Amino acid sequence: MTCHSDKEVSTVANKDISEHMLKPCPFCGGQGYITGRRYIRVVCKKCGAETGVHELTSSAIAAWERREG
Ligand SMILES: [Zn+2]
Repeated sequence: MTCHSDKEVSTVANKDISEHMLKPCPFCGGQGYITGRRYIRVVCKKCGAETGVHELTSSAIAAWERREG
């Protein structure tokens, strides 16, 4: 058993993306967060605005920033 855990590294990276790379909500300026497993969307913690569902986290983020579904 080794301490070699790529899985752990990628989990941390995903968490960073979800909290730090999102721009403020285009509607209220609140913090958005990424949710979903198979299909990803971004939801505003403050006003509840959300994108449509995306297969890729990166495209959900892009949609959030452009105010698109
Ligand atoms: Zn909002």
